[in-house]
Amino acid sequence: MGKKTKKRKSKADPCLGCDAPCCRYIMIEIDEPEEPEDRDAARWYVTHKSVSVRVLDGTWYVHFSTPCLKLDGDNRCKVYEVRPKICRKHPVDACERSEREECYDMVFSSLEQLDKYLYEEYDWKPRKRK
Ligand code: SF4
Ligand code: SF4
Repeated sequence: MGKKTKKRKSKADPCLGCDAPCCRYIMIEIDEPEEPEDRDAARWYVTHKSVSVRVLDGTWYVHFSTPCLKLDGDNRCKVYEVRPKICRKHPVDACERSEREECYDMVFSSLEQLDKYLYEEYDWKPRKRK
């Protein structure tokens, strides 16, 4: 989901001086972990390094913290003219520069965090298996 909008340098450039957090992740919508399969998938995601499960405006996502290879050393887009549509649609007026982590309803970065939520929300606990 959401990627940035790199603008040409000018005094009005809202991206000027930003370290481009919007170009440093991938986020894909997932199902809320109500059903066993969705719960298992969400638990699997958060066992991985730099992967979290997040909720934004009530929608669940898997989030991968990984920088775009087209970001240059000055935090500008190297393929600005032909950047993907998802980058073009990213709202610079409501972006990560000001909101960062605070924009999410919930962020689960570990299995322990997610299991705690699953217990509190669904009264569900993992069973020990051999
Ligand atoms: S986070 Fe916002 S200000 Fe920073 S580069 Fe992305 S769109 Fe521009
Ligand atoms: S293609 Fe450009 S605008 Fe899109 S994520 Fe990469 S650096 Fe950012």
